Amino acid sequence: MTPEEFREHGHALIDWIADYVEHVERHPVASPVAPGDVRAALPPEPPAAREPFADVLRDVERVIVPGLTHWQHPSFFAYFPANSSYPSILGELLSAGLGVQGMSWVTSPACTELETLVLDWMVTLLGLPERFRSDSATGGGVIHGSASEAALASILAARWRSTGGEVNDAGVAGSAAGLVAYATAQAHSSVEKGLRIAGFGTQQLRVVPHDGAFAMRPDALAAMVREDRAAGLRPFWVCSTRGTTSSMAFDPTSAIADVAADNGMWLHVDAAMSGIGALAPEHRWVNDGVERADSCCTNPHKWMGVNFDCDLFWTADRAALLGALSILPAYLRSAAAASGAVIDYRDWQIPLGRRFRALKLWFTIRDGGAIDAAAMIRRHVDLTQQLAAWVREDPRFEVVAPHPLNLLCVRLRAGDEATDGLIERANATGAALFTRTVLDGASALRVSVGGRATQERHVRAAWDLLRGLAGGGA
Ligand code: PLP
Repeated sequence: MTPEEFREHGHALIDWIADYVEHVERHPVASPVAPGDVRAALPPEPPAAREPFADVLRDVERVIVPGLTHWQHPSFFAYFPANSSYPSILGELLSAGLGVQGMSWVTSPACTELETLVLDWMVTLLGLPERFRSDSATGGGVIHGSASEAALASILAARWRSTGGEVNDAGVAGSAAGLVAYATAQAHSSVEKGLRIAGFGTQQLRVVPHDGAFAMRPDALAAMVREDRAAGLRPFWVCSTRGTTSSMAFDPTSAIADVAADNGMWLHVDAAMSGIGALAPEHRWVNDGVERADSCCTNPHKWMGVNFDCDLFWTADRAALLGALSILPAYLRSAAAASGAVIDYRDWQIPLGRRFRALKLWFTIRDGGAIDAAAMIRRHVDLTQQLAAWVREDPRFEVVAPHPLNLLCVRLRAGDEATDGLIERANATGAALFTRTVLDGASALRVSVGGRATQERHVRAAWDLLRGLAGGGA
């Protein structure tokens, strides 16, 4: 592609993206294609010769778009949101255009220093404690690809700290025998996955009972820790989720921190979805207790319009993180690193290579994105409360979990089969998309109100859809 062609196609593609975003509502939310349809619509072998870019774009429209679930659709109420925004898309584009690697300060100083700056900005914007700032005595923040990576990084740091660093020499079998971790059954599956990757099986994960609101019972945690210690085991890591995936429950982080502090455990706070809610000062409670955590994470790629991937991970104990992840082969040495004056983010994450992800966050914040997100968050919370009021007026439905923020879990009183059937029928219409979960053994329909373009009329239409398909009179 020549520079002239790049300019021409680039401008066309930007136009295409703007049209897509502005008119995403004309598509069914979920793709109607059957397994194999997308592949079957494309040539089985790679092209023998160069093809015009216009043909590629035509195939995007003909084959790719019909095979998409439209996450930017205002009637997308599934999972949790993955919002993008125009400044963020431009930041992503610039990152690709610059093509730099930011694994060390020396491999692109601006990549590192901008990231450090915006992570500190986010501490301010979210009202997080000073101890997570990079200019604090022991803390700092980094952009990870996902909250799953953040959970793994925190487990590795905790494992390093609780073995006095011995794990790096002796390995898990040699030094980490008897270590046990704690979370509720409501914690995200990335907790169990992270533990597995770190060498711990299901037997080393204690599932702490939750209360009627699906939040961890700190008394049960304390009792389990006591029993484990009496049995000669070594509690080392506990996850407090602020906003669980199934029902958006909030573990009592401060009470959990008491148990962690008494027993020398690492406290990780997973606020992947809800933590960003603190951009609206009246919702800062979402991060209650996080000031006592050893690490925490939240995802601008969910609720701040910074497109995937952008997870913010902070620790108050960067020495443990660096102890766990820092390896310095000769080809990565630099005078800057040796001076101790710079951050090498490769030591804060799993991979070596890293993209210039700070750009999209920086562009978004400078374009007013934090202010826009705060307004959006308020709107989503209000819409969720409005929806809950509508649901309560219909005797066929019940609300099955607290809903202080922007997730509502409902079920049909007629039972699981009726609830599952309703989810299937509603999703099959293409007019909206919901996710099923199971709470206390019973099916529930999650309504996650998080789309950047979601307005009252979309929530109203979603409720009309559900009411209309619910059956059973009323
Ligand atoms: N933690 C919680 C509470 C989540 O809700 C999710 C995803 O929705 C994750 C972790 C995993 O997030 P990621 O996709 O960034 O790994």
